[in-house]
Amino acid sequence: MASDRRDQAVHAALAQGLLTEEQPVAALLDTGGIRASATALKEAFAAVTDAPVLHAFAVKAAPLVPVLALLHSEGLGAEVASPGELALARAAGVPAARTVLDSPAKSAAELHEALALGVAVNADNLQELARLDALAPGRAGSPESAAPAVGLRVNPQLGGGSIGALSTATATSKFGVGLRDAGARALIVRAVLDRPWLTRLHIHTGSQGIPLPLMAQGVRAVWELAEEINAEAGRRRIDTVDIGGGLPVNFASDEHTPSFSAYARLLREESPGLFDGGYGLVTEFGRALLAKHGTILSRVEYAKTAGGRPIAVTHAGVQVAARTVYDPESWPLRIRAYDAEGLPKSGPAVAQDIAGPACFAGDLLAEARPLPLLEPGDVIAVLDTGAYYFSSPYGYNSLPRPAVHGFTAADGGGAVRFTTVRRAQRLDEIVAESGGAYAAALLP
Ligand SMILES: *Cc1c(COP(=O)(O)O)cnc(C)c1O
Repeated sequence: MASDRRDQAVHAALAQGLLTEEQPVAALLDTGGIRASATALKEAFAAVTDAPVLHAFAVKAAPLVPVLALLHSEGLGAEVASPGELALARAAGVPAARTVLDSPAKSAAELHEALALGVAVNADNLQELARLDALAPGRAGSPESAAPAVGLRVNPQLGGGSIGALSTATATSKFGVGLRDAGARALIVRAVLDRPWLTRLHIHTGSQGIPLPLMAQGVRAVWELAEEINAEAGRRRIDTVDIGGGLPVNFASDEHTPSFSAYARLLREESPGLFDGGYGLVTEFGRALLAKHGTILSRVEYAKTAGGRPIAVTHAGVQVAARTVYDPESWPLRIRAYDAEGLPKSGPAVAQDIAGPACFAGDLLAEARPLPLLEPGDVIAVLDTGAYYFSSPYGYNSLPRPAVHGFTAADGGGAVRFTTVRRAQRLDEIVAESGGAYAAALLP
């Protein structure tokens, strides 16, 4: 988020009592920033194609019902990958027709439910297509327009990026049907030609760490496959291509780079025929829509030194930033220092560790980070945490999930208004999800 809006929001959050003794951690979401990113996405694709484009937000990036409802109000749909995510999208009022179900492990019951609701499905593999064959007769009687679209995910097997765990287009990735495996291409073409209801191809080359040219090559590979199938069929059997998400986020500054428009232009250069209006498009961006609009705040409880290293002990650690704590090289986060009133702290930068509350030594958000020397009662802001940080809570030490507050702030001053997106998890909820109702279960 823009740094002036963030400073305003942090100050207002402290003034309005959002960080307390009982709730020393809280997250802020910049509502206006999310809207602006949604607009940037829509405009980026409208500038390169006249075709209909469904922008389905990848729910796993921010599984919060009010966020999904906000994006829906901005004209976006939802990409879901589990019954839970589908339930969130439905609770947010996202219509089935604007929802896409992807997941490598859909059960027959999940497939049945999605199709009955009218949710589009991308099959991950040929076994899943065979399952869909068994469900297809039920759909044959329904009017063509009412039948949800079905696609097949392919893996262009182009290689990975800098973060192995997020590289989905490697030769041995668990996702999709490998396009370069021996005989696979012919099998895919046959599979589509044999199934009149299979009208889409789907690809998602990976997230954060994948170079843009590699992503564009992946989209090109799937467009070429669609052209091959359509040529073989003598008509446009594949009418829509779902290009997935994966636009990386710049975690090093407040700049939104690369932009949606740069990516959309690159895609059109690489695959012009995909954007000439003949194909419908689906996108599934997550991180690039939300990451820069979230900030996690925590009070500094203690400030100590050990072995000459200053250490700020805060309440924000592995329970809110598991990826950063376990893989700090791949997921470094910027941290800003504020005083107890929520005003930016100044002073010479001192290398200090920013520690979390969990009981293991590695629970650090940053090591030797140069910041104005933190003191007890100060506040840290962990930046760019709007995507994936709310979807990877970590239950270690039974630390509660913090509240998330949406805010609106006028640029250049004015009051900041907060609204609850999610309240903090309560202790009785932690007890309940930890078997509280079965306290005597193991007693003789
Ligand atoms: C995770 C995922 C996305 C979203 O990826 P981002 O990097 O957050 O844009 C989109 N599509 C699929 C299939 C995914 O698994």
